[in-house]
Amino acid sequence: MLAKAMRDTLLKVKGLKKFFPVRRGILSEGKGYVYAVDGVSFDIKRGETLGLVGESGCGKTTTGKTILRLIEPTDGSIEFDGIDICRLKGDGLRRLRSRMQIIFQDPYSSLNPRMRIGSIVGEPLDIHKVAKGSDKEERVVSILKRVGLKREDINRYPYQLSGGERQRIGIARAIILSPDLVVGDEPVSALDASIQAQVINLLEELQEEFHLSYLIISHDLSLIEYMSDRVAVMYLGKFVEIGDSKNLYISPLHPYTEALLSAIPLLDPTIKREKIILRGEPPSPMNPPSGCYFHSRCSYRFDDCKMIEPVLKEVNRGHFVACHLRG
Ligand code: SF4
Repeated sequence: MLAKAMRDTLLKVKGLKKFFPVRRGILSEGKGYVYAVDGVSFDIKRGETLGLVGESGCGKTTTGKTILRLIEPTDGSIEFDGIDICRLKGDGLRRLRSRMQIIFQDPYSSLNPRMRIGSIVGEPLDIHKVAKGSDKEERVVSILKRVGLKREDINRYPYQLSGGERQRIGIARAIILSPDLVVGDEPVSALDASIQAQVINLLEELQEEFHLSYLIISHDLSLIEYMSDRVAVMYLGKFVEIGDSKNLYISPLHPYTEALLSAIPLLDPTIKREKIILRGEPPSPMNPPSGCYFHSRCSYRFDDCKMIEPVLKEVNRGHFVACHLRG
């Protein structure tokens, strides 16, 4: 049973930190840090979608890029399919990269405007020496068709495509090596609503077909609810709540999650829900507050909250929260 549980976990992240050094000011000698990711732990199972939500600047994108080692972590461990990827270098890291891919938010800026679509989508096959010549072309055409594009598109340039088509190119490039894990960083937020639905459906079909695990990063709570099996809520570099998507959306346990969910428009106009307005802006990640990082904006705060940092605890099965109100 345990062996099966271990096999089912694809990614295991423990105590991940990423601090960016910054100078404090032109006249100041001292160096400070932006505490972008400040000790997060989570895992992703095979075939699972973990959604990561939070306000902009909370560390979501840095978390996604760090687990792919596009950014080097400051501390913590990242285990992918049983391999400690923080120790990998050279060929070992390159091989692993073929199994972990990313889809970026802005398809236009993530595609080289001087390259034809065939070269963009086929580039991973070159880098990882997987196919060349006619074999490579066939694989590119096949994946283009799978994402809803045509053979002729290999000769076009990104500027000749619509936003939706460009995002399909980004997806084709990400899955051409049949990865195990795909990080989608705001994968549909740059697209029109009607195109968003098509791209979401495509991502879901591909997950089924290629047995993909997803980490979907978004500020869009409705998208995260729709796509995710489990959801992690991030605030100022830390996870404040993580749990099964359904439970978390029905019964949020953290005041920050509760406030975020209260802002989602309800489809049924007869149902009234009080919108919780968060006071002020999140504190600077260069100078996080003492105790609970959320205390300056929390309407439930009490004395301990300013002094003692709450740790993530399992309150219900599989549902973790970092708040003194929850024991
Ligand atoms: Fe609010 Fe205190 Fe819970 Fe932080 S620990 S979320 S300040 S009640």
